[in-house]
Amino acid sequence: MLSTIVFAAIFVGLLLASVVLWALFLRLGLRWAKVPDVTTRRVVAATAIVIVLQVAINLGFLFISPSSDAQTIVLGLVELVVAVVVPCAVISAVFKARFLRALQAWLPTLLAPVTTLAFALLVLRPFLYEAFVVPTNAMAPTLVGRHWKGTCPECGKPNYCSARDEQYGTADPPLMICENFHVTKASEIDKKIHAGDRFMVAKFLTPRRWDLVVFQYPEEPATLYVKRLVGLPGEKVHIQDGSVWVDGVSQTPPDSIKGIEYLSELPDWFGPDLWGSDNRPALLGNDEYFVLGDFSAQSKDSRLWEQGAPGHNPFAVPETHMKGVVTHTYWPPHRWRIHR
Ligand SMILES: [Zn+2]
Repeated sequence: MLSTIVFAAIFVGLLLASVVLWALFLRLGLRWAKVPDVTTRRVVAATAIVIVLQVAINLGFLFISPSSDAQTIVLGLVELVVAVVVPCAVISAVFKARFLRALQAWLPTLLAPVTTLAFALLVLRPFLYEAFVVPTNAMAPTLVGRHWKGTCPECGKPNYCSARDEQYGTADPPLMICENFHVTKASEIDKKIHAGDRFMVAKFLTPRRWDLVVFQYPEEPATLYVKRLVGLPGEKVHIQDGSVWVDGVSQTPPDSIKGIEYLSELPDWFGPDLWGSDNRPALLGNDEYFVLGDFSAQSKDSRLWEQGAPGHNPFAVPETHMKGVVTHTYWPPHRWRIHR
């Protein structure tokens, strides 16, 4: 809830800030172009008219779909010209200035989006929110990467698997997971490649159990992973009967993931026993976390890691590697979801 309020406040705040900045830069520009009779009321009026017109025009462009590269280029040029001509014409009309003078007054307003963007990159991104896209399907169906979509033979809900570039034979259909977490061999797939989810990560939240977290992969910190946090510092984690057990107590997951069956053995894994299995329970240090993927049969998570970060358990995500908590899936729109 808090994260949604912050998310909405940031969105509205950025929008308002760019409008106010636009008006301020226009005022500077008018002074620079030596336009007479500049009043606050006129600046506000010009700003409002420009915004209304630009929103309307951009909405109009959304409905035009160019069918060739040439059309795309022409459309782009038209949009560019409109983006310059419309505000200059409005400024010219409101302040009764010649077009070239209006153009000069308009030039500084280009700094408004630059300022907003700089604020977003320098303040929002490191301290509040960052946008990510999911690369793999280890967190399916909660977060999906580039995927094929099918229908679950058990419940009829959509199911997902990673899109492959080559076809597969009848001997090796990929495993799919549906929205009720049924894992089945692919039977019908539309073979259309769908793009991965885009989601927001909050930097200001303390990670809790069952949160989706983004972190630096311990063996290779330049790579970011997203997984579900199941074990907290100091806890002893093991997986039994499909559930996560902490210090000998079975943990009840939130309703949204009730159907997940966590695996402590993988059929195609020939390495040592998995971390978190009966023979190798994971005892976390006081600054370490244990993470699992929702698609347990296909997830490279704490259970399988061999090396780990220097000075840490191989299965652990050190606290210093945590980047944030996933709060919202925002794209594509039909995948919109609040996670925390
Ligand atoms: Zn199903």
